[in-house]
Amino acid sequence: MPINKNHVLRNAVSLRVGLIGDPVAHSLSPRFQQAALDACGIAARYELWLTPADKLVERVRSLCDKNCLGANVTIPHKRAVLPLLDKIDPLAERIGAVNTIVHRDDYLYGYNTDAPGLLYALQEQGVGKAGPGGQISLKGYTAVLLGAGGAARGAAFALTGAGVERLIILNRHLERAQMLAADVQQYYDGPVFSLNDPAFLIPHPSAIIINATSLGMHEDASVLPTEVLARFDADTFVYDMIYNPSQTYLLCQARTIGLRSANGLSMLLHQGALSFTLWTGKPAPLGVMRAALE
Ligand code: NAP
Repeated sequence: MPINKNHVLRNAVSLRVGLIGDPVAHSLSPRFQQAALDACGIAARYELWLTPADKLVERVRSLCDKNCLGANVTIPHKRAVLPLLDKIDPLAERIGAVNTIVHRDDYLYGYNTDAPGLLYALQEQGVGKAGPGGQISLKGYTAVLLGAGGAARGAAFALTGAGVERLIILNRHLERAQMLAADVQQYYDGPVFSLNDPAFLIPHPSAIIINATSLGMHEDASVLPTEVLARFDADTFVYDMIYNPSQTYLLCQARTIGLRSANGLSMLLHQGALSFTLWTGKPAPLGVMRAALE
């Protein structure tokens, strides 16, 4: 996606891009996005735009400013911004969440880079293969998705879009898992199972277990009892979308059992890299961005 020509011509003037959410102060995005903008010589500032719900319309409208490249969107506005935009990318439409807004030719476009960001993060860990067109395939894998909230929705569409053999959604509130399963099945022919009790989880070979719940952010706990996790084959990969703390209880369980695992920092990096390219039309300087996160 080329950067808006008008933006380039005005490069002497500082352009703006930022994060819309509430809260935003904790975000790592300014750190690695600013490093990327600077490394590519783009005269733009990445800002934190604290936006309570009653100010969302005004904030989104402000993105139409001629010096604004767009924005990232985080909790709690990823769904609420959809009707405020001019055009929504089909993947974001299916997921029902936008985390990246691009201001291009006086229009606001909505994208979801969390979903492909997860696939790139998995590929980096040797899970999945990139095809000739760069598309990542998860053929042969069974995905066990913990959670059915916003992040899980993106993951469910990403995983099924990448061709997993089957999807198992485990969520505390069963009806949310069932709703997500029904949404995914409109686009996916493979089997989707919904559970709310981990005891009924049947292990499959080549499993990817992805935590998309917030359990583990503030407490030493995980959705999966260790004895359930221990039933899975040695080739199982455990990915926790949480990156703060960097070692969650789930990751400790996986390590104790001897399963490969990673935290959500790589997903944060890749979703940010994809957003960067959408705003600027340039390949993201991944090394610079990764170093800024260290
Ligand atoms: P959300 O929409 O609020 O969903 C929260 C999910 O967690 C729901 O499935 C909820 O289950 C479950 N949950 C919460 N507390 C629980 C508990 N005590 N026991 C069991 N399940 C519990 O949040 P979200 O936006 O999807 O975010 C989820 C996590 O993903 C957060 O930690 C977020 O930081 C992380 N995330 C990371 C990245 C990244 O780039 N690495 C990107 C996006 C999100 P119920 O439906 O039953 O309530």
